[in-house]
Amino acid sequence: MLRSAEPYPVLRLKPGREKSLRQRHPWIFSGAIAAADAAWQPGDTVTVQSSDGACLAHAAYSPASQIRARVWTFDPRERVDAGFFQRRVARAVALRATMQDASHTACRVVHGESDGLPGIVADRYAGTLVLQLMSAGAERWRDEIVAALAAATGAACVYERSDVDVRKLEGLPPRVGALHGSLTDPVTFVEDGLVYRVDVAGGQKTGFYLDQRTNRAIVRQLSAGKDVLNTFAYTGGFTLAALAGGAKSVVSIDSSAEALHLARENVARNAALPADRAEWREADAFAELRKLRDRAAAFDLAVLDPPKFAPTAAHAERAARAYKDVNLLALKLLRPGGTLATFSCSGGIDAALFRKIVAGAAQDAGVDAAVIGTLGAAADHPVALAFPEGEYLKGLLLRKAG
Ligand code: SAH
Repeated sequence: MLRSAEPYPVLRLKPGREKSLRQRHPWIFSGAIAAADAAWQPGDTVTVQSSDGACLAHAAYSPASQIRARVWTFDPRERVDAGFFQRRVARAVALRATMQDASHTACRVVHGESDGLPGIVADRYAGTLVLQLMSAGAERWRDEIVAALAAATGAACVYERSDVDVRKLEGLPPRVGALHGSLTDPVTFVEDGLVYRVDVAGGQKTGFYLDQRTNRAIVRQLSAGKDVLNTFAYTGGFTLAALAGGAKSVVSIDSSAEALHLARENVARNAALPADRAEWREADAFAELRKLRDRAAAFDLAVLDPPKFAPTAAHAERAARAYKDVNLLALKLLRPGGTLATFSCSGGIDAALFRKIVAGAAQDAGVDAAVIGTLGAAADHPVALAFPEGEYLKGLLLRKAG
C-alpha cells in the first residue's frame, strides 16, 4: 500500500533503527522493521523510511532472510531499473581498468555490497565472466545485470554459478548455467604472467580464488631457494607462484583430487616452471601436517589458506580450534627464521580474533614469532568503509625466531 508519494511501497523502520542506514550500511535486519506488507514479493523494491517518515534508501525486499532488505541506493531520487544496473556495473568495471593487462587477464569485476551491488559477485577470466547472485534482489534483476555486465566488459560468455549455500538463507534454489553466450572449455587466464586453467562449471566458488592474487605475488618474492609448504593448495595458485619465484621444492596438500589434478595441469601448462620440484599430497591437511611433523620434515616458507571454517560468528569457537591446530603444526614445521603466510577467510572471525588464535598457536607450539606483514584481499575486492563485513579475508605474514 502506498502511503506517500514514493515510487515504491514504504518499509518503515522502528523508532531509532535508522542509525546504521544513515551511516550507509546497506543491510536492514528483520528486527528493525516496524511493519511489512505480506503482499510484497521477494526482490521487490521498497522505499525505506525512518519512523518519522524520512526517506533513507531504496532497497530490495527479501522476506525469507534475516537480512530483510538490502540497499540499492541511498539517493531517494534514483530509480532501480535497467539503467541503474548499467551505471553501477559500468562504474565497478571502470574501477578495475588499471588492474588488468596482458599479464593479468582475471579480475573480480563486481564485489557485492562494496560496489553498491549487494548480493552480486562477478569474476572475469579473460573473455568469460562468472556470476553469483546471492540475494532476492539480485535474483529479481538477473537479466538486467547480465546485460549490463556483457555490455560493460564485452565478455563472450556470462556463466552463472549461483550454487552457494547463502542462497538458502534467501529462500533461493541453486542455479548454474550460461546466461549469455556459451561456455567454451577450457577457460584459461593469466595472473602475474602465469597461465591457469579454471573449472568454471565445477570448481569452487567461481572457479578460482582471485582474492589471493597480491598474496601469491608476495609468496613468489619470498620463495627463491626455499623449501615451501602449500597447505590447502586448491588448483595450485600459491604452488605456481612459489615455483615461479625459484623455490627449491614445493609440497602441496589438498583433500580434493579434482583440485590437485588441475593444479598439476596448471604447473605443466607453464613450460618454464620446474614441475619436478613440485610434490603433491592428496590428503586431509590436519593429518598430513602431523605426518610431516612426525617425520621431522622442515620448511622455510609455509602457506596456510584453509576453507571457511566459520561462515558466521556462531561457528567461531569450533573454527578457532581448527585454525589453532593447523597454525600450531605449520609453525612447528618451519625452520628457525622461516616464514608463515597464514589466512582466514571466515566471516565469523575478525582480524583481531584471528591474530589471537595464531598467537595462541605459537605459544602452544613453544615458538617465538613476529608479524612482519598483514595481508588481505586484492584491490579488486574492495571493502566499503561503511561495510566492515566485507573484510572476510585476513592474513598474517609471520617470521619464526631464528
Ligand atoms: N590457496 C588456494 C585456495 C584454497 S581454498 C588458492 O590460492 O587458490 C581451500 C582448499 O582447502 C580447497 O581446495 C579444499 O579442497 C581444501 N580443503 C578443505 N578441507 C580440507 C582438509 N581438511 N584437508 C585438506 N584440504 C582441504
